[in-house]
Amino acid sequence: MVCSGGTTSRCAAAQRWTLDLRSTFQTLDLQADHKTIRIGAGHSMGSVLDCLAGSGLTIATGLSRLPGMGFLLSGGVGPISRREGLAMDQLLEIRGVWGNGEPFALQRPCSETNQPFDLRWRALCGAAAFLAVVTDVTIKTLPLKPLWIRRNLIEASALPEWFAEAEAWSEQRSLQWHWGPDDKIQMLEVSQEPQPAAERIDGLHQLPPLVESPRPEQTIDSQRLHGEVFALLGPAAAQQWQKLLPDLQRLMRQRPHPGCSLAAQQIGGAIAKVPVETTSFVHRDAIWKPWITAAWPVGDALTRQISLDWAQQLRGLLQSVCPGVHLAQLHDHLPCHEQELEQAFGPLLMPLRSLKARLDPNGNLPSL
Ligand SMILES: Cc1cc2nc3c(=O)[nH]c(=O)nc-3n(C[C@H](O)[C@H](O)[C@H](O)COP(=O)(O)OP(=O)(O)OC[C@H]3O[C@@H](n4cnc5c(N)ncnc54)[C@H](O)[C@@H]3O)c2cc1C
Repeated sequence: MVCSGGTTSRCAAAQRWTLDLRSTFQTLDLQADHKTIRIGAGHSMGSVLDCLAGSGLTIATGLSRLPGMGFLLSGGVGPISRREGLAMDQLLEIRGVWGNGEPFALQRPCSETNQPFDLRWRALCGAAAFLAVVTDVTIKTLPLKPLWIRRNLIEASALPEWFAEAEAWSEQRSLQWHWGPDDKIQMLEVSQEPQPAAERIDGLHQLPPLVESPRPEQTIDSQRLHGEVFALLGPAAAQQWQKLLPDLQRLMRQRPHPGCSLAAQQIGGAIAKVPVETTSFVHRDAIWKPWITAAWPVGDALTRQISLDWAQQLRGLLQSVCPGVHLAQLHDHLPCHEQELEQAFGPLLMPLRSLKARLDPNGNLPSL
């Protein structure tokens, strides 16, 4: 197992070794021209944002400061992705060690030459966890610009209307939401241009959490929780969500534990403009990324199974509107792994498997 930020259930497991990169890979090297920064795999996104903000810079991170290198390598979907693209779209160099022990340093291939895109680079952007241990990356910086944020608590029944409205927004704005208790949904709108009644913040380093409640691995009512997160990808589909709403409301009312939840991020915009063959994030046309969290008290095997079953039911329901998978969290220990791989990579899965046979022949890293 590999641990960078240590925010997922796959950074450690019984009967496995963990390579914990956090204390050793602490490079944070802003280049003299301020256009790029080299980030060691031991950093959380929060520490990168804080370092860059001091120089009036940022990178396109997600909704939380906590994830580590796994965020950059698995996609990196965030509130400014609609304008700036995925975090992985800004990567310029990736260094590390393949699963077979060979060190590598790969530069982003030049998209202007008509050469086929280097499959190894493509694989590292979205499927790195299966092939390599990444020690550091160089990524383009962005100028730090203010953001305007607005929160709303809405009834679940109003969700499709919000979908329709957000689907018509410019790339400067994005909607993220979290379905909490009592059929109420917390909305968080983030805009790169001023909005009426919105709070101005200096940049992503000051982004408030989507919800105040703790995430799995933390506690609810002094219970320490564990969890699994399943992320899906789908196109604009406000009307289809309307049709699903009664079943969604039923399943959300039946959630087996208060830590179980459904949330979503709006994507699209600049993400769709990046050629699909440059990374392993193949669902470039996706507009919504919902994610389902199954949570249970640590050690409670029964609630774990019930929560995972509930999450699979919800996943099954949402599949008609979100046929793709964002493999931000690996589930190589769960029965859905094979299906998730197919939904995440589609026809790219076979070439990725051939590459793994060459670069990680002994299967030291998670199975693909
Ligand atoms: C609170 C929270 C908020 C989040 N918000 C977003 C969001 O807004 N947008 C989004 O896109 N995602 C989001 N995520 C998902 C997150 O980006 C992924 O789960 C990511 O993989 C976590 O990275 P990590 O370094 O913390 O992973 P870890 O838990 O440390 O590692 C998990 C797995 O990732 C792989 N991995 C980690 N580091 C390396 C490495 N250096 N080399 C090779 N493989 C590695 C390994 O397979 C490892 O087993 C969020 C997660 C959390 C917990």
